[in-house]
Amino acid sequence: MRANLLDLDPDGLRAWFAARGEKPFRARQVLAWIHKRGAPDFDAMTDLARALRARLAAEATIAAPQVIADAVAPDGTRKWLLRVDGANAIETVFIPDAGRGTLCVSSQAGCTLDCAFCATGKQGFARNLTTAEIVGQLWLAERLLGERRAPTRARGGRHVSNVVFMGMGEPLLNLDRVIPAIRLMLDDDGYGLSRRRVTVSTAGVIPGIDRLREECPVALAVSLHAPDDALRDRLVPLNRKYPIRELLAACERYLARAPRDFVTFEYVMLDSVNDSDAHARALVAIAARVRCKFNLIPFNPFARSGFRRSPPERIRRFAEVLAAAGLTVTVRRTRGDGIDAACGQLAGRVADRTRRTFALAEARA
Ligand code: SAH
Repeated sequence: MRANLLDLDPDGLRAWFAARGEKPFRARQVLAWIHKRGAPDFDAMTDLARALRARLAAEATIAAPQVIADAVAPDGTRKWLLRVDGANAIETVFIPDAGRGTLCVSSQAGCTLDCAFCATGKQGFARNLTTAEIVGQLWLAERLLGERRAPTRARGGRHVSNVVFMGMGEPLLNLDRVIPAIRLMLDDDGYGLSRRRVTVSTAGVIPGIDRLREECPVALAVSLHAPDDALRDRLVPLNRKYPIRELLAACERYLARAPRDFVTFEYVMLDSVNDSDAHARALVAIAARVRCKFNLIPFNPFARSGFRRSPPERIRRFAEVLAAAGLTVTVRRTRGDGIDAACGQLAGRVADRTRRTFALAEARA
């Protein structure tokens, strides 16, 4: 079997070359060709000796997931449905904004956590993604976003300035694959992103938070969604294993090593469930323990979810209570309407989605 070089982080690539008697700088060269310049094969690597190129072609591949649908919403948000194997597909979303481009990547096909308000949880868990499938989402996005520009990318321009692990899956339950992918994102010969511009979002896997802190600290977002254990147990079942008090302690430990001096608490706004003034005041008490910012996410509905989005006026008032206590709070703008690209709507099911997404892709072609 040929090795997929997208699976190897910088150290892995160096070891792979060393095992073949090749110098470390060759590994750097190939790393830059693949990740910085987006080379799809070894022929493109013109500053490598012909013999080495032939050897690489015989022993290795550069294999990203296969794009099976590509849709763009009126606001410019773009969503790809990617086939990762015969039975599974995942979704990746690109969100353009003034001065930046954020890529929302998936870390698992499906999810084991089954949060009450999340579409991904409803489909169950298939498997962890490989490093190649995770970093392959960024590799593909850079290529596909660059298609309509000069192929040489003379400007050295990048389309993706930020990566958030907020697609399908729980990244901290797949750290063996997520960490190598992050190392490639951070590497100067890879994507050159700073630690502050890569955000891992977790439902609260405490051992994972500790491991990320030790091995590869990047920006951290925690899906809080409730100020007390009784409610959080219902919304985020993982809370029964890792309750709020212990989760906050893990956040504090994380901050000692984090590239930013706050944790982002995500908070989905569910009508009459977690959105009262009393809930907001309880959050203020929590924030007294951990340096944090709040990001309120208006609930994104999906079929048979059983929840409704809080009314705009309620969200505004909730934010006001937090702000009045001196907390930084933002309300996430809903992006990707019409292509089911918003938080919690990524389901990656091929069967009942393809027709609509293809229709959109064709309309653009
Ligand atoms: N498993 C990770 C990352 C994936 S979800 C985590 O739990 O953080 C990214 C964010 O979207 C999380 O905060 C998640 O709780 C939120 N989310 C899930 N479903 C949603 C929905 N239907 N509407 C709004 N936000 C949702």
